[in-house]
Amino acid sequence: MSDSVKYLLGEQDIPKSWYNINADLPVPLAPVLHPGTKQPIGPDDLAVIFPRAVIEQEMSAEREIEIPEPVREVYRQWRPSPLFRARRLEQALGTPAKIYYKYEGVSPAGSHKPNTAIPQAFYNKQEGVKRITTETGAGQWGSSLALAGAFFGLEIVVFMVRVSYEQKPYRRAFMETFGAQCIASPSDRTQSGRAILAEHPDSTGSLGIAISEAVEMAAQRDDTKYALGSVLNHVLLHQTVTGLEAMRQMEMAGDYPDLVIGCTGGGSNFAGLAFPFLGRQLREGGDTQFIAVEPSACPTLTKGLFAYDFGDTAHLTPLVKMYTLGSGFVPPGFHAGGLRYHGMAPQISHLAKLGHIAPRAYNQLECFAAGVQFAKAEGIIPAPEANHAVRGAIHEAEKCRESGEAKTILFNLCGHGHFDMQAYTDYLAGKLRDLTYDESEVAMALAGLPSVS
Ligand SMILES: *Cc1c(COP(=O)(O)O)cnc(C)c1O
Repeated sequence: MSDSVKYLLGEQDIPKSWYNINADLPVPLAPVLHPGTKQPIGPDDLAVIFPRAVIEQEMSAEREIEIPEPVREVYRQWRPSPLFRARRLEQALGTPAKIYYKYEGVSPAGSHKPNTAIPQAFYNKQEGVKRITTETGAGQWGSSLALAGAFFGLEIVVFMVRVSYEQKPYRRAFMETFGAQCIASPSDRTQSGRAILAEHPDSTGSLGIAISEAVEMAAQRDDTKYALGSVLNHVLLHQTVTGLEAMRQMEMAGDYPDLVIGCTGGGSNFAGLAFPFLGRQLREGGDTQFIAVEPSACPTLTKGLFAYDFGDTAHLTPLVKMYTLGSGFVPPGFHAGGLRYHGMAPQISHLAKLGHIAPRAYNQLECFAAGVQFAKAEGIIPAPEANHAVRGAIHEAEKCRESGEAKTILFNLCGHGHFDMQAYTDYLAGKLRDLTYDESEVAMALAGLPSVS
């Protein structure tokens, strides 16, 4: 049996710039619209909730955006992250395919999220902000921002989707250890939360609701801003540090991916790995396939509409053009909490619409089965979200076994599952089911899409 191989870069190889795919889009993104006037927004409209530097990045078309040195200093704690060739998994599958994965679970929060939490906290601090509000699904984003808040001396308030708050008590303890305040959402702290509770006292919450609460609280105080852990251009930009490293590591391995695979909640870890490769393909040509994997129970890219929609439930955010299941849709409480979002990053939606990204959906049980198979071969227990990428990679490797093709597969193992062992306990005890989403609820949520001429 040949062992799995690790490709490591040195600290001096941490990228000096992030990669902005806006520079290489064949067709520019649709403009972001003001929720009231439905006219394109300008930087001033966003200044209530975001620092200037972040707004500039959100709207930038520069291909390379410099990573500030203090951010690279913090990145050094865990970056560059390792790239592995999963030889033991390949053997277990009996596939001629080569499977590589970029492992982001080495960060202090156990996922890719600190890649953007650190720069966002840095820019807020630089502009004199004292407090940041945010939402979190499974808790990884809240944990990452809590960590960044501790590093940069910022107060952090996290609205955590209630179903995850209850499923993942250790995540809350993690955030509180770093000094953050963690509130179950919907809560009675905001108008948006109280409105939901009045109608649905037992609401399990959703990212859309938690975003409304966090945005509402940020807009109330001058010293408070809001941070989002996915979806927006600047977040995807910060995540490209993974793909840029992976390009060099694939070079070290003497390979180039035929397939790049990632799970997609709001799209940031997938974009982080895929965009540097996809950008090169847009500039120079190539035939790498980019596969975005989502849960069948929250099938934004595979079953949603490409339309203008709100990012949150209470309709406080600007309108963005994206694949969406409707901002009123509350996905069922499956365990990959980080994938329970009604929308998808505009950049990913746009590239999927243009045919450059292929979406795919899998059920919860097949994803856990893949995660267990991966853990046994590679020794890492993936986060339930990451299991979707693992499932995608194994599925492709199995297709290669049938066809005899030796494709090179690269996927993002975006986090470990050490805070998600209750999900594995339930899976191993045979208690998990495949959840289906309520089609009539999606139809209703989609019927309520804002009309934009
Ligand atoms: C947050 C999270 C996700 C989903 O968010 P993306 O923006 O789509 O990456 C997936 N996996 C892990 C481990 C996460 O923490």
